[in-house]
Amino acid sequence: RIMGLPREHPENKQFLRRPTLSGHVQLQDVAFRYEKSGPDAVSGVTLDIRAGERVAILGRVGSGKSTLARLITGLYAPDQGSVMMDGTDIRQIDPADLRRNIGMVLQDAWLFSGTIRENIALGDPSATDEQVLEAARVAGADEFVATHPMGYGMPVGERGELLSGGQRQLVCLARALLSKPRVLLLDEFTSSMDVQTEQKLIERLPLILQKQTLIVITHRTNLLALVDRVVVIDQGRVISDGSKDDLLNTKAAAAKA
Ligand code: ATP
Ligand code: MG
Repeated sequence: RIMGLPREHPENKQFLRRPTLSGHVQLQDVAFRYEKSGPDAVSGVTLDIRAGERVAILGRVGSGKSTLARLITGLYAPDQGSVMMDGTDIRQIDPADLRRNIGMVLQDAWLFSGTIRENIALGDPSATDEQVLEAARVAGADEFVATHPMGYGMPVGERGELLSGGQRQLVCLARALLSKPRVLLLDEFTSSMDVQTEQKLIERLPLILQKQTLIVITHRTNLLALVDRVVVIDQGRVISDGSKDDLLNTKAAAAKA
């Protein structure tokens, strides 16, 4: 029912069908503010993330990282500029196609009161049991599910409150991986996990990622192992964008000086 929400397909709007995207993400001079009279949460952001690239977005608390995530996934539309996928403004792309091609774990990731299986399959109600199991295994959600008597039929409670914060994140990650999306966007997706669980994911994710574009938003430097490029955001603007090695070398040099 969520998938068919009417306002996604306003009658007078013709969407472009883009069933398979390659995962090229571009932001062009993007600005967004939450309130009309308020400050810009992000402004002047121009980014070109090629298909298959692995990028981290770093920045202090409140710098605009999650806002960028919401813009890239089409949850919010920019007030200025545009967000494009494979060269097409995402506002023109059929929302169902966009959703199938972008897997996301948002910082305020949510579950609904169904079972684990239903929560993982949310993005694709036609998913088979094997696909759900595979996604759960890769995300690392299978371990705690396997020890519960009801397994994947276990209810997660209202907004997932019967699970721990880390378990909720594992289920959200499984959901994001289910459709093997071309773009995987992970916003603080390990913030409630213990170091060991996080480390296992850092080792496992690259094995299952093939040509997907990966965008990781994080405060945790160990997640940089997943990426080759680092974009730093401050006060809603991009203040640095380059290879991870360059960034780490500059940091090391600054520390020596
Ligand atoms: P953190 O590292 O804490 O997750 P962030 O970089 O993700 O921070 P954002 O969540 O993008 O930061 O917030 C950027 C700015 O936008 C902040 O000043 C914040 O107060 C504001 N903001 C974020 N979400 C909302 C909202 N739903 N309504 C109004 N303002 C918001
Ligand atoms: Mg955030």
